[in-house]
Amino acid sequence: MEPRGTKRGAGKVEVAEPRNKLPHPAPSLPTDPALYSGPFPFYRRPSQMGCFSLDAQRQYHGDAQALRYYSPPPTNGQCPNFDLRDGYPDRYQPRDEEVREGLDHLLRWLLEHRGRLEGDPSWLAGAIVTWRGHLTKLLTTPYERQEGWQLAASRFQGTLYLSEVETPAARAQRLARPPLLRELMYMGYKFEQYMCADKPGGSPDPSGEVNTNVAFCSVLRSRLGNHPLLFSGEVDCTDPQAPSPQPPTCYVELKTSKEMHSPGQWRSFYRHKLLKWWAQSFLLGVPNVVAGFRNPEGFVCSLKTFPTMQMFEHVRNDRDGWNPSVCMNFCAAFLSFAQNTVIQDDPRLVHLFSWEPGGPVTVSVHRDVPHAFLPTCIHLHSCGYT
Ligand code: GDP
Ligand code: MG
Repeated sequence: MEPRGTKRGAGKVEVAEPRNKLPHPAPSLPTDPALYSGPFPFYRRPSQMGCFSLDAQRQYHGDAQALRYYSPPPTNGQCPNFDLRDGYPDRYQPRDEEVREGLDHLLRWLLEHRGRLEGDPSWLAGAIVTWRGHLTKLLTTPYERQEGWQLAASRFQGTLYLSEVETPAARAQRLARPPLLRELMYMGYKFEQYMCADKPGGSPDPSGEVNTNVAFCSVLRSRLGNHPLLFSGEVDCTDPQAPSPQPPTCYVELKTSKEMHSPGQWRSFYRHKLLKWWAQSFLLGVPNVVAGFRNPEGFVCSLKTFPTMQMFEHVRNDRDGWNPSVCMNFCAAFLSFAQNTVIQDDPRLVHLFSWEPGGPVTVSVHRDVPHAFLPTCIHLHSCGYT
C-alpha cells in the first residue's frame, strides 16, 4: 500500500518497485536514528483540557481528588534520609496488573467532554487519541535496544485511537518479575509519598499505605507536525509554589535512581535514564523532574532537580547520546505511517503495529477479540458512561 501524503521520514516506507511487476511487500517503518535526524518538528505547547482521578479501588472520578502537592523536605543542607523500603510489603496495595484497562478511563473522560472537542469542523475527528506513556515509547524507539512494543490502532468517526498491547515477552517478564525488582517498584512510589502532601502547604505522611490504584491524570491537547493529539498522562504532583500556577507548568515528576559515584555512572545515566525522563515529561509539558538518589540500603540521601528543557545538554556532545529531534521526527513518522495504514473507519478493525529492537515497525490486521479495544458503547453514546 502506497502511503498518501506522507511527511518526511514516513517516506521511508518500503514499497515494491516497480509496483506493477512485483507483489507489494507488507509496509513497514524503519527506526534507525540516522533516518530521523534533521530539524526539530513542530510540537504545540501542550494545553490541559481537563483531568480525572482514579481512587484506591481504581474507580474513575471526573475531578482532581487524587492530585497531590509537592512538599520537599526543608533544605538545611542535611540529607533527607527517606527509607524507601519502609512499609514493604505490609503497607503496599499494588494495582492488579492483570486488569487490561486499555484506553477505558481516557475514553470515559472523552465521552463526558466530547462537546468541548467537537467544533466545526470537528477537531476530534482529525486527532489521535492515546496515553502519554504510549507516545513516550514511540519517542524512545530509535534508541531502545531491549524492549519491543505493540500498539493496536482503530479508527472511529475519523479519530485514530492507539492502545498498547502487552507483548508476550513483556507479559512473561512481568509474571517472572524478581522480588528485588518488585521492591524497587515499591520504592519509587514510596518516594512520592515522602515528597507529596494531600493539601497545598501540608506535610507528607509516610505512615500510610502505598496504593498504586490511585492516580491523577491530566488530559492534554497538542500537535506534532500535522498530527493533532489528545492524550492523557499520570501526574505525580503539582507545586503550589511554581512560578506559574497554570497546568501543566506547575506539575512535577518524581523519580528515583541509584546513587552515582563515577563519571562513567553519570554518563550512562544521561544516555539511558535521562532519555526516558525527558520523553515522558517533555510530551506533557512538565518543566521539572525531581530525582531522589538512593544508596544500596534504600535510603534517599540526595535530591536533584532536572529541568526538562536542559536534559539534552548532558548528551549534546556525546556521540552515543540521544537527540530530541530524532525522537520527535520518528514519532511524527510513525503517526503518519499509522494514519496512512488505518484507512477503514471501523471500531472492530484493529491494525496491530509491532516492533522489536533491531527491526522495523511491522503491521498485522485483526478483527474483534482479542485485539479490538474500543467498547461497543462508544458508538452508541448510551453506555453506563453517561
Ligand atoms: P506513564 O507515562 O508510563 O506513567 O503512563 P501514563 O502517564 O500514560 O499513564 C496512563 C495510565 O496508565 C494511567 O492510568 C496509569 O496509572 C497507567 N499506567 C502507568 N504505568 C502503567 C503500567 O506499567 N501498567 C499499566 N497497566 N498501567 C500503567
Ligand atoms: Mg514518577
